[in-house]
Amino acid sequence: MPLMRDLFLAMSTNALMRRLIVGFPLTRRVTRRFVAGETIDEAIQVVKQLRTQGIDVTFDQLGESVTNETEARAAKDGYLRALDAIAANQVACQMSVKLTQMGLDLNADLCLANMREILTRAQQAGTLVTIDMEDSAHTQVTLNVFKTLREEFDNVGIVLQSYLYRSEEDFRALIALGANVRLCKGAYKEPATVAFPAKKDVDANYIKLAQLFFDSNGSANRAYLDLATHDEKIIAWTKEYVTAHQVDRKRFEFQMLYGIRSDLQKKIVAEGYTMRVYVPCGTHWYPYFMRRLAERPANVIFLISNLFR
Ligand SMILES: Cc1cc2nc3c(=O)[nH]c(=O)nc-3n(C[C@H](O)[C@H](O)[C@H](O)COP(=O)(O)OP(=O)(O)OC[C@H]3O[C@@H](n4cnc5c(N)ncnc54)[C@H](O)[C@@H]3O)c2cc1C
Repeated sequence: MPLMRDLFLAMSTNALMRRLIVGFPLTRRVTRRFVAGETIDEAIQVVKQLRTQGIDVTFDQLGESVTNETEARAAKDGYLRALDAIAANQVACQMSVKLTQMGLDLNADLCLANMREILTRAQQAGTLVTIDMEDSAHTQVTLNVFKTLREEFDNVGIVLQSYLYRSEEDFRALIALGANVRLCKGAYKEPATVAFPAKKDVDANYIKLAQLFFDSNGSANRAYLDLATHDEKIIAWTKEYVTAHQVDRKRFEFQMLYGIRSDLQKKIVAEGYTMRVYVPCGTHWYPYFMRRLAERPANVIFLISNLFR
């Protein structure tokens, strides 16, 4: 269903559609399948529930592409409050953040300053902060900011996307750096000049990169891999590969999005692997929600049937 994917990805960045959908009174109820809540308190309850099931969490304060510096600072303050709330509730929880939410498109220095504040507070709490990867127009600048921050902080990680041709080279460099890398397939609309157009090639590249990591020298290398996927074939391949090659389970973990394949999440925990769920929270859910609809046409049927129930 590539057409459906293209349509929903185009809608995810369209201001008119955003106003229409966000303004539609019943949509908010349906977003709850993928968004833990609009407030930090609601999200903390979800985090606590997941933790009782043995599932680890990375928390995301929803937001991206802010249009002025005040919004960027407010987003940073939101993260600081979230870190404080997590500490006050004593729930172990990592953080995920988008750089365009911290002002990357407006002023790179402001973005760096915001990230330094977040990373300093997170460091005090012993928390890892992973930088999400946005569309390919932001790949290089995101990696540049990550590398600058990595020289100052050891609690920062980064996402790479297996749909980009460049990711293999980026991945090799990050492994050599001993970085914490979250590997996903990629959620944005990209041209064939930068990304594999066929899903089978994106999936094959995912496995290629994961294998590259597992074959890198674990004891000498502090790099860590987050396998962020719901793809059962990739998960099964990983389990077989790490068993056959005696890869230490402390070198990697599985990750999924809140509301997607919770059956599989529990199964992975029961098998003794680390399983972390990405828990988004906040009022800026529109682009995130539309990307989730784009990934799976069945979600659109779910949306429509729930809206008119
Ligand atoms: C922890 C985490 C962090 C992420 N961070 C980023 C990021 O920073 N940048 C970025 O571009 N992308 C990010 N993504 C999204 C990712 O790139 C994919 O778009 C998304 O995970 C779907 O791909 P998949 O690997 O699950 O494989 P797919 O082949 O797309 O899906 C495999 C199976 O998973 C299930 N599934 C997948 N998506 C959905 C859905 N929306 N609803 C219901 N079921 C679904 C279905 O059963 C499907 O058959 C992240 C994903 C995760 C899990």
